[in-house]
Amino acid sequence: MEKIKMTTPLVEMDGDEMTRILWQMIKEELLLPYVDLKTEYYDLGLEHRNETNDQVTIDSAEATKKYGVAVKCATITPNAARITEYHLKEMWKSPNGTIRALLDGTVFRAPILVKGIEPYVKTWKKPITIARHAYGDVYKGSEMKIPGAGKVELVYTAQDGTQTKELVHEFDGAGIVQGMHNIEESIESFARSCFNFALDTKQDLWFATKDTISKKYDHTFKDIFQEIYDKEYDEKFKAASIEYFYTLIDDAVARVMRSEGGYIWACKNYDGDVMSDMVATAFGSLSMMTSVLASPKGYYEYEAAHGTVQRHYYKHLKGEKTSTNPIATIFAWTGALRKRGELDGLSELMTFADKLEKACIDTIESGQMTGDLVSSSTLPNAQSLTSEEFIGAIKKTLEAAM
Ligand code: NAP
Ligand code: MG
Repeated sequence: MEKIKMTTPLVEMDGDEMTRILWQMIKEELLLPYVDLKTEYYDLGLEHRNETNDQVTIDSAEATKKYGVAVKCATITPNAARITEYHLKEMWKSPNGTIRALLDGTVFRAPILVKGIEPYVKTWKKPITIARHAYGDVYKGSEMKIPGAGKVELVYTAQDGTQTKELVHEFDGAGIVQGMHNIEESIESFARSCFNFALDTKQDLWFATKDTISKKYDHTFKDIFQEIYDKEYDEKFKAASIEYFYTLIDDAVARVMRSEGGYIWACKNYDGDVMSDMVATAFGSLSMMTSVLASPKGYYEYEAAHGTVQRHYYKHLKGEKTSTNPIATIFAWTGALRKRGELDGLSELMTFADKLEKACIDTIESGQMTGDLVSSSTLPNAQSLTSEEFIGAIKKTLEAAM
């Protein structure tokens, strides 16, 4: 069989630990035999980030701006223990944070649904994609403990020195106070990323805040979304037969629980933090969550939502076989290949991505899966395979389908 051609390279960001091992297996078994794979390779493994003083992370993000599409393996975000383990020059920042800052993107997370691993919420039939605004609010807040009676005010000093004040509270006794902010530019990027992603995936977009209580702060989010929607997206949404829908956050939560799924739920930073864990867990498994960073300028970076699966890696180093689930990492590759195919007009590449995803799902539905899925599967014949055996089973299903 002739290999499927590519014209523009994908930006390939390699990573750490168990996912780095899976990365290699996926390429060798599921991609290289079928696709004339073109990538520009960046090694974001912690050792190489340390050698390059993290320049490689910046270079990989710049390459993503050049080519438009990247696929990323999970990477270690260093902490104190990693400094000793990897003899680091310093505690390098989270690569995802660095890349997100450079691409100015929003992260969209969606579960992969398979029969036999049923969502805890009975009505959910289609994935719910969470889009979390990743800037500001309580994550960049400042706080004080108020020791006793006194007055707390917000003070804005303009560049010309004029001041505007707003009373927060007249304290009679001890208490607490918090100040937080966001910036219009960031909210606008968030809105555009969400509208573009909705058009891209042909799904409705829901957005919710608490604007009835927070009449300036949350209301600004609502207004910015609405203005951008009316000006730039209304016609495009109508042409694509999709809807933009705004409601209060409590109403949104109630509707999500009664819904069938199949839409994007845009959340402010804190709501997205909390709701993404709720949605991921309710759909069944962290190892079945995909994640894509989409920028308002139209750059995409695909990855798995889980980390480097450190515990399994230490077993692997001892020579033990592990049953680590490669599905989310495979879907990062298929997502990136499909997007590359779409941008370059390569329908064969897009079809290959579809077939590989279907092979993954069919293999699991036939009862062959990794250990993490067996424990939550309702299939009577669910069988736990090692990562190698599982990837081999997917390859067999794929070949039968081709
Ligand atoms: P993790 O890698 O997501 O793994 C946590 C646990 O979840 C695992 O020990 C495993 O449970 C289960 N799990 C996750 N993915 C799995 C898979 N594909 N197959 C089977 N089980 C899976 O999180 P972590 O251990 O807390 O973090 C390890 C490293 O990853 C850290 O250094 C962190 O900085 C990094 N991290 C990176 C990213 C990213 O690059 N996007 C995201 C998160 C974390 P059992 O052990 O019970 O089998
Ligand atoms: Mg969280």
